[in-house]
Amino acid sequence: MAVLGPAFGIVKILRSRKRGCFLLTLLCFAFFVFLVCDFLVYYVVIVQCRWPDIRTETQRGSKRTSASVLKAMFLSDTHLLGEIKGHWLDKLRREWQMERAFQTALWLLQPDIVFILGDIFDEGKWSSSQAWSEDVKRFQKMFRHPSDTELVAIVGNHDIGFHYEMTTYKLSRFDRVFNFTSEKLITRKGINFVLVNSVAREGDGCIICSTAEAKLIELSRKLNCSWKKHSNKECGDVEQLPASEPILLQHYPLYRRSDSDCTGEDSAPPEEKSIPFKEKYDVLSQEASRKLIWWFHPRLILSGHTHSACEVLHDGKIPEISIPSFSWRNRNNPSFIMGSITPTDYSLHKCFLPFENRVITIYCTAGALLLVLLLAHFRLLMPPFCFAQHLIIKHKEV
Ligand SMILES: [Zn+2]
Repeated sequence: MAVLGPAFGIVKILRSRKRGCFLLTLLCFAFFVFLVCDFLVYYVVIVQCRWPDIRTETQRGSKRTSASVLKAMFLSDTHLLGEIKGHWLDKLRREWQMERAFQTALWLLQPDIVFILGDIFDEGKWSSSQAWSEDVKRFQKMFRHPSDTELVAIVGNHDIGFHYEMTTYKLSRFDRVFNFTSEKLITRKGINFVLVNSVAREGDGCIICSTAEAKLIELSRKLNCSWKKHSNKECGDVEQLPASEPILLQHYPLYRRSDSDCTGEDSAPPEEKSIPFKEKYDVLSQEASRKLIWWFHPRLILSGHTHSACEVLHDGKIPEISIPSFSWRNRNNPSFIMGSITPTDYSLHKCFLPFENRVITIYCTAGALLLVLLLAHFRLLMPPFCFAQHLIIKHKEV
């Protein structure tokens, strides 16, 4: 025994070193899987997205430099969870996913402007001022952007509540953070964007609604004047805007009966498609929709709210794109729209983000592999007979 003592000690040390090495390898493997699934995957997927070309450019023979094309990114319904309904793990996971997706997209695609079409927060409709400022802080961290990229946010029902929950207090705290004065017109590179607070399109004459309507009528007048000569009597006092049909951006879609005509892999699931939409809840009322088209004659409408994709043609000529939710909490395959826009043309491309079920499959496979390796290492994976033999040998050794 005295002779075997030191040798046995060396074997023991070697065994524990081997085990340490093995565990370290497993740890590295687990870290590698995390790195792929929660970091690199966004680069691999988003790098495949390209800014669309404007097809009419060559047809018209006009020379258009890349500087004159506005690269705009549109996303919607981020629904940052609040303190009441949000579980911390759900919050952590969803916010990490959205932050990584957004930051990777900014880095790879370098848009000039980003529009978020409402429902930025999930609980803005009832959050206390303290919860609101915490949500805002997290939003500002997740959606941080360089100074040469503009971020424009449009209000949604989860930010200020549905029409009967909407108050001037909630509206003004949203305005303060996002500088979104309801019903606003912004012009970039000669392109007019009309930003609408669609929650205030109830049409019941409430103070917020009637103020919003008056502003929209004024904006419509400004845009109409842009097509007329400045010497025109009615337009003498109006600020001159580029003569370009506007793009309408809002949270609620314009009225449509249901999503039954919507197609595409990220349209609503078949069992939901035929459910009729409720006016002023799922979509704008027919009257409010007619007014917006009448006032602005937009060349394109982009909206959110339904969390699913859809393309509709209003009056046979005005396309509306419903943008699906940007959060994996609402979709397995979120996306955003990339638009190359000029004052006369536009071209859109949808950029899909990683499928969550695929990421989960990779995690599960890696987890199962780790478990098998661990069990095999500790010799717990042998058939019963071998396992018993192994125990007897061990017993004899002792
Ligand atoms: Zn909504």
